[in-house]
Amino acid sequence: MTDTTPPAPHAPINDLREGIELLKLHDGQFVSTAVEVDPEAELAGVYKKVGAGGTVQRPTRVGPAMLFENVKGYAIPVIVGVLAARKRIAMFLGADEKYLGRHMLNAMEHAKDPVFVDEAPCQEVVHLASDPDFDIRTLLPAPTNTPEDAGPYFCMAVLRGTDPETGNHDVTIHRLCVQDRDEISVFMQTGRHIGFMYEKYDAMDKPMPITISMGISPVEYMAISFEPPATPYGFDELEYAGGLKGTPVELVKAKTVEEYALASAEIVIEGEILPGRRVAEDQNTDTGYAMPEFPGYDGVANPSLPIVKVKAVTTRTNPILQTLVGPGEEHVSLAGIPTEGALLQALENALPGLVKNVYSHSSGGGKYVGILQIHKRDHNDQGRERQAAIVAFGAFPEMKHIILVDDDVDIFDTDDVLWAMTTRFQAERSVIPIPGVRCHPLDPSADPEFLWTNFDHGISTKVIFDCTVPWGLRDKFIRAPFLDVDVAKFLPNWTNG
Ligand code: MN
Repeated sequence: MTDTTPPAPHAPINDLREGIELLKLHDGQFVSTAVEVDPEAELAGVYKKVGAGGTVQRPTRVGPAMLFENVKGYAIPVIVGVLAARKRIAMFLGADEKYLGRHMLNAMEHAKDPVFVDEAPCQEVVHLASDPDFDIRTLLPAPTNTPEDAGPYFCMAVLRGTDPETGNHDVTIHRLCVQDRDEISVFMQTGRHIGFMYEKYDAMDKPMPITISMGISPVEYMAISFEPPATPYGFDELEYAGGLKGTPVELVKAKTVEEYALASAEIVIEGEILPGRRVAEDQNTDTGYAMPEFPGYDGVANPSLPIVKVKAVTTRTNPILQTLVGPGEEHVSLAGIPTEGALLQALENALPGLVKNVYSHSSGGGKYVGILQIHKRDHNDQGRERQAAIVAFGAFPEMKHIILVDDDVDIFDTDDVLWAMTTRFQAERSVIPIPGVRCHPLDPSADPEFLWTNFDHGISTKVIFDCTVPWGLRDKFIRAPFLDVDVAKFLPNWTNG
């Protein structure tokens, strides 16, 4: 029997600093500034233009990661945009930029349990909240992303918590707003795993121990955002992070709570989510808004959020605070690339060989829009492309629009996709709407005011855009056959792509 299994992923980038060093080896992937920047709105305003990309209002672009060395009022620098380009993810993972989804799927098949270590650099410096001088607001330069945000946010904060009954644990990135010297509000959408655990603690009137790891290895970040059904309740996403790295993720016991933090982190906040207590997210500012969310709009401030009571902040020596400017390409990477892996897994199981590649497109923040590259092999595959779209909706329920194209279309080139949606598309036969499906509450059009048949906020019409050529007509849809030549013969410095 021939073994066609691809080799296990191997991306042993152990921490943020190794990631930065790798970026410095490549042109145009890393910039830094020593000019003082205000973390309140200015920092995000700069990076919005330099490299946010994604669903941010133009002008923006996909650009380099950026280090702000001199943050006004703080001793700690801020890095933003480390994962805000597929090209950089490909560098970190040692993978082909166009097959990151396949690479994620391969990592899922090589999952590795985390291991526990006794010591980690993320605990070189310990700041205890019991110290009267402790104030997280002056210690950590959490940026305020826009002038109307509720306050400063930690945007790359990996929470780790444990189920009080089953002992299951979970890691998830959540929206954290700094509220007081030792208090941070946490927004957990219904159904998210850490939130589900917290509901149990809350009902038992017990504080929930939590660690918040920031500035972890970029490879580890890429696996944190797997969501159900790819990672059901009780499945630790860090197993897939180990699969991606090729070595297990290391965890270290927190200093002040019964929980573990990611050893690779630059900064760890330790604390407890308190039972019973709730605050308004914008209690300090009354702006009515939270922070920019991935669909491109400022989120509404939540009137009632639980609080993390901080017990300690531990850091490396001279730590770096890592953040992202949402809604940007960084969210597209974090949410979309694991989604591509999850879609490919479900599609391969259901329809082996039919779907060559998938792209969780930037326009949907990596969640709402999926493009599937279909390889029809014979007349029996005619119509199976639509089955593939249905499987994709099942594999990732937040997906709203699925665009199906043939395998001569580049799914990462939106011009090419819109070409297929023009010349291989007749709306009456090619649009398949599925009304009244619960999708995602942050899509502002998913609302009864927009469409009366959306009976509740978060209800949408899902759509399949079938831009594939009907099998029987394929002879009429052959693209003009240019000669494939080696341009380097004429332009020596030429690189494709
Ligand atoms: Mn989970």
